[in-house]
Amino acid sequence: MRAGPGLRKATKLATLPLGVWPPRGADDVVILLYHRVGPEEVEIELPPWELEREIAYLASHERVRTLDDVLEAGGGGVVITFDDGTPDFHEHVVPLLERYRVPATLYLATRLAESGAGLTWDQLADGVRTRLVTVGSHTHSHADLSHASESEAREEMRKSKDLIEDHLGVACRHFAYPWAVGSPSAARVARELFRSAALHAWRTNRAGRLDPFELGRTPILRSDGRFFFEQKVRGRLDAESLAYRVLRRGPWERA
Ligand SMILES: [Zn+2]
Repeated sequence: MRAGPGLRKATKLATLPLGVWPPRGADDVVILLYHRVGPEEVEIELPPWELEREIAYLASHERVRTLDDVLEAGGGGVVITFDDGTPDFHEHVVPLLERYRVPATLYLATRLAESGAGLTWDQLADGVRTRLVTVGSHTHSHADLSHASESEAREEMRKSKDLIEDHLGVACRHFAYPWAVGSPSAARVARELFRSAALHAWRTNRAGRLDPFELGRTPILRSDGRFFFEQKVRGRLDAESLAYRVLRRGPWERA
């Protein structure tokens, strides 16, 4: 089933009233989940001008914080994250982070860098040098850890953490599960190797209930536009997950 942009917007409107929980409180943390920037008309790829408008909005309206700061100091705000490590991160995202002076975490599937299909290690080092980019792990091969044994999960996480630390000379302290799915054994390994793990999609991290190893993130999609983006930043569109449960696939999976 392929949902067009019209249906996607209608779904968001329909689920908005389900955001019956109060809008984000001062100590709630919204972790935004982005993937790619470019012209392709798919949900997980935003036009460059749209990303710039959103980053500018966040810089002027929100307390944009690093993951480390949120985890160490507590308190609320917005964290920006990107997944996978495609070359557009270097071309489009890093310049915007510098222009608006906001930090972001990139969860890197290290095989992309090793295979030449994604960001190069030099480009990643450029990002780290801005002191605005934190590089976390997203496994080595973008593995579905819900179907992996504990030793496979350990190999995927360990390899990617080691590659990041060896190539970039920084500690790799944060992890995000590919496809937003995990397992009890993967969770055990994540606790051994990392300081945090992002698991759930469409979940605002409410004050007092922030679990560093089950962080919730809010996917930002092409069909959001300005209105739904701002609702998501306010933690009011977590119910969009219901729509994707009905469609039985996340927006990051190809139709
Ligand atoms: Zn991914």
